[in-house]
Formats: sequence, C-alpha cells, structure tokens
Amino acid sequence: MSNKLFIYNSLSRKKEEFQPLNPPFVGIYVCGPTVYSNPHLGHARVNIVFDILFRYLKLDYKVRYVRNITDVGHLENEETGEGEDRIVKKARQEQLEPMEVVQKYMNTFHKSMHRLNILDPDIEPRASGHIIEQQEMVKVLLDNGYAYEVNGSVYFDMERYSKEHKYGILSGRVLEELKTNTRELEGQDEKRNSFDFALWKKASPEHIMQWPSPWSDGFPGWHLECSVMSMKYLGDPFDIHGGGMDLQFPHHECEIAQSTAATGRQPVKYWMHNNMITINGQKMARSLNNFITLDELFSGDHKLLEQAYSPMAIRFFILQAHYRSTLDFSNEALQAAQKGFERLMKAVEILGVLPVSDSSTVSVSELKDKCYKAMNDDLNTPVLISHLFVGVKMINSINDGKKKISADDLDDIKSLYNLFVYDVLGLEWVETDEKDDELTGKVIEALLSIRHEAKLNKDWTTSDRIRDELGALGIIIKDTKDGANWEKS
Ligand code: ZN
Repeated sequence: MSNKLFIYNSLSRKKEEFQPLNPPFVGIYVCGPTVYSNPHLGHARVNIVFDILFRYLKLDYKVRYVRNITDVGHLENEETGEGEDRIVKKARQEQLEPMEVVQKYMNTFHKSMHRLNILDPDIEPRASGHIIEQQEMVKVLLDNGYAYEVNGSVYFDMERYSKEHKYGILSGRVLEELKTNTRELEGQDEKRNSFDFALWKKASPEHIMQWPSPWSDGFPGWHLECSVMSMKYLGDPFDIHGGGMDLQFPHHECEIAQSTAATGRQPVKYWMHNNMITINGQKMARSLNNFITLDELFSGDHKLLEQAYSPMAIRFFILQAHYRSTLDFSNEALQAAQKGFERLMKAVEILGVLPVSDSSTVSVSELKDKCYKAMNDDLNTPVLISHLFVGVKMINSINDGKKKISADDLDDIKSLYNLFVYDVLGLEWVETDEKDDELTGKVIEALLSIRHEAKLNKDWTTSDRIRDELGALGIIIKDTKDGANWEKS
C-alpha cells in the first residue's frame, strides 16, 4: 500500500494506523448472511466493502478472510433473541427441509456475490458445522461463572460480566438502559435478567433443528457462532472484525462479551462497520415494500426500478460512497453510476492505444500518490475514484493530442489503472451484451402478456404452447397468484 494504512476503529471511534498482530499475516472475520431469503442491496454493500479491504490488504499481507454462513439460531427478534428461527420458519412456509432452505439461499447468495465480482473468502464456516465447538464455549462460560442453566437453556449472565468488564464498549449502550427497555418483553421469564442472551436454547419437540447437549436437545444462540468460529480459524485475538453497522448491537456486543468472558481478553483489535443503504431516502425494510433483491436489480423486475442494472454498475455505485456514509439508492444514482463506470472503462481501453512521445506533459507519479493516499485514508474509494477520473481526463487529452506521455510514464499509468481499477476496486468489463439481455427480457414479457390474455379467454392451446416453446429455449415460466414469473433454467 506504499504507505501507512489508517482505518476507522469502531471500538476507539477514531482512525488508527493498521498494524497487524502477527505480520505478514492478517486475519479478517466478517459476519455473513443468514441464508433464509434472497440477497439484497444490503448484502451487496457489506460484502463489497470488505472485498475492497481484503483486496487492498492482500497487496501487502498474507490475508485469511473468514466469512460465516448462519444456518441455525438466528431468531426473528434480534433485540430480545426471541421468536422462531428464521430458517425453520422459511422451511415450514416452503415445506422444505431446513438444510434445503440453507442450500437454496446459500447458492443464490454465492451466485450474486460472484456476479458482483466479490472474491470468495478463504474459509466460509457454517454455524451448524460447529455445534461441538459452540458447546465447548458454553461449557467454558459455565465453568467461569459467566453463564447459568435454566430449564435446559443456558444464558449469558450480563450482570456478572459487567461487574468485571465494561459492557457496551462498541455501541455505547448502557446496561441500565437495556434493563428498562427490555423489561416488559414477553417470553423471558426464565432469564435472571431480561437482557441476558441465550448461549444454548432448549428446543421444543416440534422444532426441526436440534442437537443433543449436556443441557437439552436444542440449538446454539445466534451470537455464539461468530465468537467460536472467528477464534477457531483466526486465533485469539485477531486483527479485523467487520460487519454492517446494524450488527454492532446486540450481535457484536454479545460476541465481545462472550469471547472476553471465555478468554479474559478482548477478541478483536480493529472493529469495522459499514453504514446502511437507504432507498429513495427511506430505510430498507420488508414492511415498507422497498426491499430490492440483487436478482431484481439485475433483471429490472421490481416496481421501484426503471430498468435492469448491471452488477458492475451496482458495484461502482456502492464504491462511489465512503463505506461509513449512508448510501441512498435511486434510479438516477444508479444510472449515473452506470455512465461513470463506462467512461472509466473506456479510458482504460484507450490506454492500450495511446501514442507515446519523447517526454511527458502529465504527472503519473503524482496521480499514483493521490490514489494510494485515498485508499490509505480509511479506504476512501470515492476520493480514489475522483482521482481516477482526473486521470481519465489526462488519458483523453493525450489521446486528442493535447497532452504528451513518454513510454515509461505510459507503462506506469497502465499498471496504475490495472492495480486500482481491476485489483483493488474489483471492476471488470463484462463482455455479455446487456442491451441484448434487456431486449430478450422485454420480448419474454410481451409473450407472457399474450399468454395471460389467452388464459383469460380459456385458450389453453395458445397458453400451453407459449409455455412449452419458451421452456424449450430454457425459459421457465412459473405461475403465481400475482401473475407469471420467468427465469432462465
Ligand atoms: Zn456475526
């Protein structure tokens, strides 16, 4: 990174110089998805943000990037840790095995991440694959006196913890406040205090994901997996823990409490959190009907979308904001991102055919310094991109004969753009013709509306023929109560 990298540590609430615990090794743990529904814009953001960190650190260090898959224990209400397991609920609704739900949404998650050119983590551990390790940590916490068992469930004893350690160091939450806020909530009778959280939950007989344990047939609490799996694969303590800002409380706060209670020391040196995406100025929420999945963005199939957007336009859009700022989604913003991305990539293409002169009238080394400086300042990708656009102007005026560049400088600027555009920002020029895809989509929609009319007229021959012929072309039509959907097989 050709200089010192500073990152904002959520724990100290300031920018700190990044110094790995065991150079040249760096360990990163990022909270991955709970795989019970299709990935959306929020997943794109957190994973692109930490992809940039991963890519940038890889230039100088030997990085191990761990991102988990939550496939058990994430209950509906995150604040209270109560309610039904999200995966179990989905399995019941879709009449699937819980592990079928997990596999299905893990596959769509991976597919979307690949389309966004997000690098795979080095290890992707699953909570259900680490039940024994989680039980081991529960035993340690019980032995250390930081947990108690009641009716087959084991809870973390926050009052005991806060006597010796400070709870809320990340989020600034105070135990007293939690006490008043959570007192009235139902279903918490067996806990000593309403803010105690579950390490192990006894399962009801009809609960379809449960494992034997010394305490009951049950399942681990949601927070436990991240403490256990980060420690298992990255050691204790490790360098960087990342995630969305919405996970600071209670998830990351509980992780810190568990790990500290188990080992006697803080588990993580640098905590990093990305801010949220809003949609036309509003919070993204299922209840507001403004949840846009990545597949919908790629296909344009959502009422808030004016068109389909390419994965690279979305990636570029996300990188145009600093990760700690909120980012507002709108059609205009994405359309502008698409144009900006194309302008940048065209300039990269022109680099291959620029005429060289004996000397330069441009300064490549100055540009290079500025690019590194932007990234070293807490991964400031919008500033980096603005410098790359200054370079685009430079490239275009050399191409127009208004400026000159020497052969050496041309080599330098080529490697500069290769490094920052491809390796660091992870942008790529996708060869498939998106215009063609868009047209195909419109033709299919037209056929579906003819089929819809045919069905209304009880003309089953025509409606079946359209379905079969599209099927033969690999276009699968699915009839739902809201009309027909289609997808490529
Ligand atoms: Zn986590």
